[in-house]
Parts: sequence; structure tokens; C-alpha cells
Amino acid sequence: MIEKEVICVICPSSCHVTVKGDGKTVSEISGYTCKRGKDYAEAEYISPMRTLATTVKAEGYSCPIIAVRSNKPMPKEKIFDAMAEIQKAVATPPFYVGKTVIENILDTGVDIVLSNQ
Ligand code: SF4
Repeated sequence: MIEKEVICVICPSSCHVTVKGDGKTVSEISGYTCKRGKDYAEAEYISPMRTLATTVKAEGYSCPIIAVRSNKPMPKEKIFDAMAEIQKAVATPPFYVGKTVIENILDTGVDIVLSNQ
């Protein structure tokens, strides 16, 4: 039995949800106040996802770095390796919000895009 406490971030109540299972499936869950929190905690237990926001080197831009983010949440376990990939990348003109800097990073189906100009 693997137990994990998840703090729900869906609303400011920040409920502490206790999830138990085998690490891949949930057998017991308690502490949530609503279904959204239950769903969030189950997803966090089975496969936590995060949106990545950072900076990347930029050439031909007014600053040596530019802000990027993932275009959707990606597996939390891939964040460290994704950061290493982003460190190697260089953004080039034209610069516009949403421009893809790295497509399908680490075969996650997630793109790294410019988040501001
Ligand atoms: S479980 Fe429901 S009430 Fe509690 S923090 Fe999550 S969304 Fe808010």
C-alpha cells in the first residue's frame, strides 16, 4: 500500500486529500470536499502533471533570454529532463506568443512555446 497526501489546488480551500493504492490504481481516498478535488487527487496520485514555465536563450531578441512554457501540462517526472533540453535550445526570430521553440519535447506530445514577446 502506497499512501500519498495531495493538497488540492483547484480552489483556495486547499483540502488535504489522502490517497492510498498500489501506486497505479487508487483503493482508498479521503479528505476531499468535492468531486473536482477527488478527481484531481486521483490524477496526482496516478500520474502527476505540471505546466512548465522557464526561459530559453534567444538570438536576435532585445534580451539574451525569453520566456517559454509548455503548451499543456506534461508528466511531472519528465520536467527535469525537459529543462535540460530547453537549456540547449535557442529561440530565433520572429518572436510571437505561442511560437513553438521545441516540438514534442521528449516525445511527450507537448510543445515548448514562447510565452511572451
Ligand atoms: S477538494 Fe474541492 S473544496 Fe477542496 S480544495 Fe479541492 S476543489 Fe476546493
